[in-house]
Amino acid sequence: LVSRKMQAEDTIIEIKGEKIGDGNLHHIMGPCSVESYEQVSQVAKAVKQKGLKMLRGGAFKPRTSPYDFQGLGVEGLQILKQVADEQDLAVVSEIVNPAHVEKALDYVDVIQIGARNMQNFELLKAAGETDKPVLLKRGLSATISEFINAAEYIISRGNRNIILCERGIRTYEKATRNTLDISAVPILKQETHLPVMVDVTHSTGRRDILLPAAKAAVAIGADGVMAEVHPDPAVALSDAAQQMDIPTFDRFMNALDEYAPRVSMQ
Ligand code: PEP
Ligand code: MN
Repeated sequence: LVSRKMQAEDTIIEIKGEKIGDGNLHHIMGPCSVESYEQVSQVAKAVKQKGLKMLRGGAFKPRTSPYDFQGLGVEGLQILKQVADEQDLAVVSEIVNPAHVEKALDYVDVIQIGARNMQNFELLKAAGETDKPVLLKRGLSATISEFINAAEYIISRGNRNIILCERGIRTYEKATRNTLDISAVPILKQETHLPVMVDVTHSTGRRDILLPAAKAAVAIGADGVMAEVHPDPAVALSDAAQQMDIPTFDRFMNALDEYAPRVSMQ
């Protein structure tokens, strides 16, 4: 059902007036994890100031180590929702448990399904039974075909509002955290009718190449970019090495907008 053969036109997903997949750029920015009201609020103001509409933030964090910060859970979703309402932004947040999907609908505008859960089929089905937009991230070692099949699990349950997100894959290369598979973008755009985004933070794991990676993403046809922003990355409870501080985020957005304007923001 996600195949271009089934639907020739691009799927357009409406989130807070943004039409993802309409050919314009729509970026998703925010902290890796929700840590406090103040932290999210500072980032949200910067996001809003740039005219962006989608605020990300992890409340349930699927960390590689069980000893790392696991997120604030529902309290994190409450903080996100409060801040997003104050700034008139949409909330994008990861849900990791199928049993939480229903409850999360009160807080999130986009259900994020993370790389580690791309083949959590019960979670995919649960998200497929809602009508909320789903941001589906590519699995750590998933092929493009496996990625498309994961989207098929969601759409086959009735939810057609799916955004695919390339976030890098595991290879032997150690210079970046993952290897950004940039060619996945035009392949996904050709093979499916869904919008495709690129997460430059988790794919590169390197603040110094976020901008060129984002330029590459939009040049090759992505519908938008996701990146992480924190008021003080050095003390962040997750992904301290690659989140941008707010002045860096401002410069990043200015440079990206100059390279690839977001176009008609009515
Ligand atoms: C995230 O975006 O918060 C995240 C954990 O990314 P990924 O699932 O791609 O590792
Ligand atoms: Mn992160």
